This record gives sequence, structure tokens and C-alpha cells, in this order.
Amino acid sequence: MDLFEYQARDMFEAHGVPVLAGIVAHTPEEAKAAAEKIGGVTVVKAQVKVGGRGKAGGVKVAKNADEAFAHASAILGMDIKGHTVNTVMIAQGADIAQEFYFSVLLDRANRNYLAMCSVEGGVEIEVLAVERPEALARIAVDPAVGIDAAKADEIVATAGFSAELAPKVAAAIIKLWDVFVKEDATLVEVNPLVLTGAGDIVALDGKVSLDENADFRHPHHLELEDAAAADPLEAKAKAADLNYVKLDGEVGVIGNGAGLVMSTLDVVAYAGENHGGVKPANFLDIGGGASAEVMAAGLDVILNDPQVKSVFVNVFGGITACDAVAKGIVGALAELGAAANKPLVVRLDGNNVEEGRRILNEANHPLVTLAATMDEGADKAAELAHAAK
Ligand code: GDP
Ligand code: MG
Repeated sequence: MDLFEYQARDMFEAHGVPVLAGIVAHTPEEAKAAAEKIGGVTVVKAQVKVGGRGKAGGVKVAKNADEAFAHASAILGMDIKGHTVNTVMIAQGADIAQEFYFSVLLDRANRNYLAMCSVEGGVEIEVLAVERPEALARIAVDPAVGIDAAKADEIVATAGFSAELAPKVAAAIIKLWDVFVKEDATLVEVNPLVLTGAGDIVALDGKVSLDENADFRHPHHLELEDAAAADPLEAKAKAADLNYVKLDGEVGVIGNGAGLVMSTLDVVAYAGENHGGVKPANFLDIGGGASAEVMAAGLDVILNDPQVKSVFVNVFGGITACDAVAKGIVGALAELGAAANKPLVVRLDGNNVEEGRRILNEANHPLVTLAATMDEGADKAAELAHAAK
């Protein structure tokens, strides 16, 4: 989960990273009140989860509260790279002497963490990394050690900070590492990290991505979710504890076990090549206990996706035997009633498969087709989706 800048700012502050005052506003009036409260020069900053807000006109310096009002009026409602601005942050104005760059992130390719740092911040770091890679220091960070004083010194030395600035920047970097580890982040980026005229180091912009797998350790992270932007189907699936990811295609997919569902996506995409190029509409793993309730919740989510034209249920009976799954499907269809309105192809195999198929045959639901194999089921589902397109 990516955070808004104001959420990153608050998180930085909680961990002792130096930041300036910031107050969130949703209307020009709130922006004006916030600017009055902060006093002096402020900066009105669009809160959208994309970079380059400054270039797009989403970051504006206001000399007084009336100017903050005017800038907020212009920025609220603005579209920045497809993101509508619903919120601005009124930040205390900084007297910027120099702009630097720092980030630490999960380096999946090297199974490690990576710190990046540059004395040339503020600019688009992607451009710097391509055009003048030597200006961006990259230092591997051992997860077992983290960024301690020695590692922070190595980072600032490699980046080329002066002897005077190096210890100040290193201190801020150690605090940012605290944010990264204690909040279970996969990315903490500060661009720009600035030196003020008064000689202080301040994080002026913040980008934080949190590892949702660690949410159980951080109950307060749930409050950081942007409910307004969440896909309604994904929110519904999450509420039902389902592992659901919406995709672009037309064939709904339900399976038990992440591995089986992933291979089902491949098989459906492959089968779709013979049926007008239809593709999987989602990933949905209902897990081990494929009960009627779970099956109903899963079907409910998938059938409510207007892009879905057919559904392929591909279940391998293990601990939950096929007869229980079959009862689950029959029960789910009864529960959904008229809401179940798209053809379903069901492939069952594994534990108690004969009894499972018998139950589905006996129920003889007009929307359900049984398939003997995964390939056959994928082909049938793709064919039905194409026919309904
Ligand atoms: P981004 O464009 O989305 O990365 O937004 P930033 O928060 O990084 O702001 C972009 C640029 O605006 C910064 O690099 C600064 O040059 C400038 N800026 C941001 N805050 C202030 C401030 O308080 N005072 C001044 N003078 N400039 C600021
Ligand atoms: Mg920035």
C-alpha cells in the first residue's frame, strides 16, 4: 500500500525524522485556516499518489493565507496523471539552500535492501539515474544489520556529501531506516531531502510503501487505506477475507490454492487465444475451506464484475473434499438466486470427486456445465465468454 505524502510526513514525524508542519485540507476555506495556523509562507501541495506533482502544477508556494486559499482553489479538483486531487496539504514553507535525494527499498532481484542517495535531489531521479548514474550512490544494505552509524556514514560518503553536511544527513538517514524497519515498509523515499538556510536537514517530500503482509503487526496501518480509491469489488473481497485481484479479461476464475489459481489463469489465457482472445477477469483463491459461504462470497464478487461473461470454477479436492465443494456451489447458487446470471464451468478433481460430480449432476442447474479436465474447462469457459461478448 502506497501512502499519501501527508501520511508519510506524519509517519516520519512519529519516528523522529525532521519534517516541517503540515495540515491536510479538503476545501479552500480549510486551506486558508491551515495557512493562518501555520503562519508565514506556506506551500499548497496536491495529495495524489503519483510523482512529479510539482511539474504538473500541484505544488505552489503561498506568501499568505489568501494566496493559500487561491492555490487550493486551483489545485483541488485538478487532474494529475489521471489522479483527481481531493486533498491538499498545507505545509510550512522551507527556505531551501540545497536539495538532496535519499531512498531505501526492498531490492527483490538481489534479495537485499538497497539505499540510494544523491547530492542532486529535487529533480526527477529516474532521469538522473539514466543520464548520470555516477551521481546516484547505490549501497546494498544487509537486512540483518540495517543502516547503523557505519552504514549511514558509508552512504553519505559514497554520495559525496561535504564533511560538514555528512553527519547531519547520516543522522536523518538512520531515522528514515527506523521508519523503514519499524513500519515494515518496502520503500521509503525522500525527494527532496533539503538543507535549509538555517543549516537544518528536513524531509520535504515523502513516499512510503507499506508491506501489507505485515499488517497484522500494525493495526493502525488499516486506517491509512484510501477507502475512496479502493476498487469496490476488491474491497468487498477483502471484507470476505478472499484473495482477489481484478484483471482485465472476461473469464471469471475461482480456484482453491494460489498455485492452482495461477496456473488456471495461464490455461484460460491460452484457451482464450482460440476464442476471440478472451482473458481471465480476475485472480480469486478461496483457500482450503471451500464452504458454501465462501463459494457464495467468491461468486458474488465475480458475478458483480460487469466485464465477466463466464466463470471457471477449478477446484482440487484435498482436505476439503469435492462433495463439500459441490454442495458449496449448489448452496451458493441457491443463495445468490437471480444474481447468478452468467454461465459457470466447473471442474472438480481429487478427494471424493465422484460424489462431487454426482451432486452437481443431480442439482442440474441450468447455468452449470461440468468439465472433466482443466484444459476442457478453460476451453469451455473461454468459448462461453466469447459467445456472450
Ligand atoms: P513532487 O514534485 O511530487 O516530487 O513534489 P515535492 O514535494 O518534491 O515538491 C516539488 C518541488 O517543489 C521541490 O523539489 C521543491 O523545489 C519545491 N518545494 C516544495 N516545498 C517547498 C517549500 O517549502 N519551499 C520552496 N521554496 N520550495 C518548495
Ligand atoms: Mg518530490
